[in-house]
Amino acid sequence: MNKGKTFIISGPSGVGKSTVLHALLEKRKNLYFSVSATTREPRPGEEDGIHYHFLNVDTFREWIAKDEFLEYAEYVGNFYGTPKRYVDAAMIEGKDVILDIEVQGAIQVTSKRPETVRIFIAPPSWGELERRLTERGTDTPDKIQKRLLRAKVEFQTAHTYDYFVINDTVENAVNELDAIMTAEHCKPQDRMEIISAK
Ligand code: ADP
Ligand code: 5GP
Repeated sequence: MNKGKTFIISGPSGVGKSTVLHALLEKRKNLYFSVSATTREPRPGEEDGIHYHFLNVDTFREWIAKDEFLEYAEYVGNFYGTPKRYVDAAMIEGKDVILDIEVQGAIQVTSKRPETVRIFIAPPSWGELERRLTERGTDTPDKIQKRLLRAKVEFQTAHTYDYFVINDTVENAVNELDAIMTAEHCKPQDRMEIISAK
């Protein structure tokens, strides 16, 4: 049986991670999206348990104390974290897991699970990123500027990732992510095990 792999996708807020992942999940049925916990307010259309587990700060701190998180970080005034139990349950079922997390969280996961495959997703330009953030209409101009500043800092870490995808069109970005995941399953260490077990 193919073993599940864990993938991280990081990239600036507004680059299109949710949009691209939504399309990728349609294409790769064996892929499980890790639903994070956050203390930020839901955006219009976001549902508890589907897009995020929306928690208040006290509950988030309880989850930290109970060691529920694979990683967690503070991002532009809110906490975000990956609950361990769903990730592990999906891996046991042989599914691939994708974590949409920012760079501090990515560093924590990599130090605990070095085999994790890390993908950075970038916009075609900074101007286009600002346009997407503005057009999404979910953040105040002040929050947008904070997210853009954070994006430039995060971009400095992009060279430490395993792959770099540019979200110019959703179709291109989805095709590249799909190709990366397929290629990661063609590594000899996994494939040779399958044959030698027969
Ligand atoms: P993120 O999850 O990275 O914060 P979103 O998926 O919410 O970003 O996308 C931010 C905005 O950009 C949304 O309005 C989305 O429709 C738009 N968008 C995403 N990808 C593209 C693309 N390739 N071209 C144009 N607009 C895009
Ligand atoms: P947003 O508020 O736009 O949904 O997310 C803001 C940032 O938090 C994005 O960079 C996203 O990747 C990141 N993020 C979402 N969930 C998690 C998580 O569980 N852990 C960490 N470390 N970052 C997360």
